[in-house]
Amino acid sequence: MNKIVLKSGRERSIINRHPWIFSGAVKQMPQANNGEIVQVVSNANEHLGFGFFSPNSQITCRLFSFDKEDEILDFNYWKNKIANAYSLRTRVINFDTTNIYRLICAEGDFFPGLIVDVYNEVAVVQVLIKGIELIAPYIYKALNELGFKYIYLKTKQNTQLLEGVLGGNNWIDARPQHQVIATEHGVNFAVDVENGQKTGFFIDQRENRKLVGEYSKGKKVLNTFSYSGGFSLYALEGGASLVHSVDSSKDAIQLCEQNIGIINKKESHQSFVVDCFDFLKTCDTDYDVIILDPPAFAKSAKAVDNAARGYKNLNLLGIKKVAPGGLVFTFSCSQHIDKDLFRKIVFSAASDAKRNVRIIKQLSQPEDHPINIYHPEGEYLKGLMLQVD
Ligand code: SAH
Repeated sequence: MNKIVLKSGRERSIINRHPWIFSGAVKQMPQANNGEIVQVVSNANEHLGFGFFSPNSQITCRLFSFDKEDEILDFNYWKNKIANAYSLRTRVINFDTTNIYRLICAEGDFFPGLIVDVYNEVAVVQVLIKGIELIAPYIYKALNELGFKYIYLKTKQNTQLLEGVLGGNNWIDARPQHQVIATEHGVNFAVDVENGQKTGFFIDQRENRKLVGEYSKGKKVLNTFSYSGGFSLYALEGGASLVHSVDSSKDAIQLCEQNIGIINKKESHQSFVVDCFDFLKTCDTDYDVIILDPPAFAKSAKAVDNAARGYKNLNLLGIKKVAPGGLVFTFSCSQHIDKDLFRKIVFSAASDAKRNVRIIKQLSQPEDHPINIYHPEGEYLKGLMLQVD
């Protein structure tokens, strides 16, 4: 097998099991093609692990093993990795009430470059690097053996450009005959895996949606950046008197309307296809609960300053507009904005709004989005539940 040799002293982070090697740490590149598995060794030729080689990426190699030198990387190896991730899900997800969950969370499951999201009988596979594409047949087989009847491959355009992944957006074997309907905490959703955003649903907000449901009884709720109505459905199921869902995407709102129909709550719901900032500027001030769940404003470290301004403006509007004694659930899924920075941004918005604000709860990502302790970059979702006097 080809070797990637690290510069002297640069093995420290790998010994600490951080899975990424940047080009600056490499003394000698392997004679390998994009996606090939390479052995990672120190300058003194000590075995450090195995990884997928990505010669054109910012991250030259992503390690998936830090163990034995004689590891056999056959079908069973990958199957065991998937089985290990599945076993965690059987402990943290109640399958009686939830069949929407993330089965493989890339580095969080020691499987860099791979996301697998489950919607009932459907597994949606996102291949983020070439190395995963090369072993994809093993992954499909393992998923079939776990009982997933349908597998959909979904590829982001920038993955194709940056990582040389051929990808595709297609069913691997059979295509389900009916629309995919799946359940989260007993709430049913129609999920559009083919045309929806991400793999079809924002699974990472499951526990936070449940929390919103618990505080919605008899309340007027505003769900901004609603997508297919995740928070709205929980609020309605929790007894909200009226819910407004706002999203700039017509397709998202169409799905949202369909989902509201599934739970039979159309009379207590209204949706708006409009920019959330514009909506918040002119909306009423009698919402008891406001949810602010925008897309990642900071997609890179360079974008943090602009993103911070965006979050500040959004939170200022939300905190200004909520009724006295109301709740604001505010989130950021930008990996480059950490918990502390997010809290400072919300502090600054609260202070400009000149209202008394208390943090009731600090929110995060759920158990099926585990954070590899050696890879803090995997912690990306943060939120605050605020009470505004
Ligand atoms: N809260 C949702 C997920 C939100 S994802 C859930 O629980 O499922 C972010 C959503 O914001 C996307 O649906 C996107 O279409 C929408 N969006 C992005 N920018 C927007 C803007 N400026 N105004 C309104 N919606 C926007």
